[in-house]
Amino acid sequence: MALVTEQPQQRPLSDLTPAELQEFVERKRAAYAALCERGLRLDLTRGKPSSAQLDLADGLAGLPQGHTDADGVDVRNYGGLSGIREIREMFADLLWVEPGQVVAGGNSSLTMMHDTLVMLLLHGGVDSPRPWNREEVVKFVCPVPGYDRHYTMLDSYGIEMLPVEMHTDGPDAAAVEALVKGDPAVKGMWIVPTYANPTGAIISEEVAAMLASMPTAAPDFKIFWDNAYAFHHLTEDEAKGVDILSVASAGGNPHRPIMFASTSKITYAGAGVAFLAASTENVAWYLRHYQYASIGPDKINQLRHVQFFETAQGVRDHMVKHREILAPKFAAVDAALTAELDGLGIATWTKPSGGYFVNLDVIDGTAGRVVELAKAAGIVLTPAGASFPHGHDPRDRNIRLAPSFPVLADVETAMAGVATCVALAAAEELAGRHSATQSTPEGA
Ligand code: PLP
Repeated sequence: MALVTEQPQQRPLSDLTPAELQEFVERKRAAYAALCERGLRLDLTRGKPSSAQLDLADGLAGLPQGHTDADGVDVRNYGGLSGIREIREMFADLLWVEPGQVVAGGNSSLTMMHDTLVMLLLHGGVDSPRPWNREEVVKFVCPVPGYDRHYTMLDSYGIEMLPVEMHTDGPDAAAVEALVKGDPAVKGMWIVPTYANPTGAIISEEVAAMLASMPTAAPDFKIFWDNAYAFHHLTEDEAKGVDILSVASAGGNPHRPIMFASTSKITYAGAGVAFLAASTENVAWYLRHYQYASIGPDKINQLRHVQFFETAQGVRDHMVKHREILAPKFAAVDAALTAELDGLGIATWTKPSGGYFVNLDVIDGTAGRVVELAKAAGIVLTPAGASFPHGHDPRDRNIRLAPSFPVLADVETAMAGVATCVALAAAEELAGRHSATQSTPEGA
């Protein structure tokens, strides 16, 4: 049962008279005081799978049966840097690429992104005139809001970040084109193409084709195509991922995209299998440098995953079980926000059809305050601004909600509380603006 109360039809706060607004503030202060008294301890910070989701993969525990793969390789031993053939074939099918374009690695796609970035910095790519770190400055286009770990990774290597707006069909392609066409220091960009973190946006074929074929001043421009949520549907209307490797080849830039994915949110977040997919030249380049870092991945875990899923369809079927756990939590987020905030004109939020997040935009200047109010009431949210480079949201309006980890009842409780905080912060801000206007001396 949702802990949200039905509200009468609500009017935009901006339409209220000063006295009505003050009355609204008092009501929300009382609701907030009651919230604080409950002594909640809830956490909506990170997009982690819940225990119930992890339990879905417990069949992995008794696997693998035997210790040889389909090629007769003893998976307990060293070797096989690109990963075992069966898992590459399974995920090539799912990611719409050829098995020869796939590397199956360790447990983290973020690590593969990091390795790729470092290799580009130290060695340059297949089409680089020189290593990236020999350039005076390296810049990356960063769609915002986006994934905080992408930004912190770039920041750790001193790479300059150029924000562009994320739209519902992907990054603002015209803005990206303008940034990349004249500046050879712009070496790459990040894209979460399907069910983006945190907006849930799905890139369209048109936007993908524009980004894959646009002229870039850098001859070795790379798209880090982070397909972390490719199969993570919340509805039966499943988004079909763009086949970016083919689109880029058709656009004359076969080496531009490097795709990453993993089973972190399919099996175990801490013990899944990660993948890199790219042109065969890029794959050979990656393995050529990676051979100095590893004598082979955890092939036992790869074989375990192959036996657990059996087929690519097995992965798709497994994702339906995740959906059954996750969809009610996302519905609860929407229900709580709608019940408290609908009609007030102080917040908008996404209703994603996949992925792990809801993107909440509150009125400018209040996101930090909302997070602070929630924290004081025992509800921990991702820090305001986390979805922007350097953790700085210039409008201080964006909050990333991550409802996957807590149990449903806690999501309901937490979100009713968050909605109260949003309403209180907005009302106080508007009342403050109002009295500031009134107290401004004439002519000032
Ligand atoms: N990419 C995105 C967009 C994510 O949201 C996450 C985790 O939240 C990751 C990558 C992490 O992937 P992995 O667990 O494979 O390292």
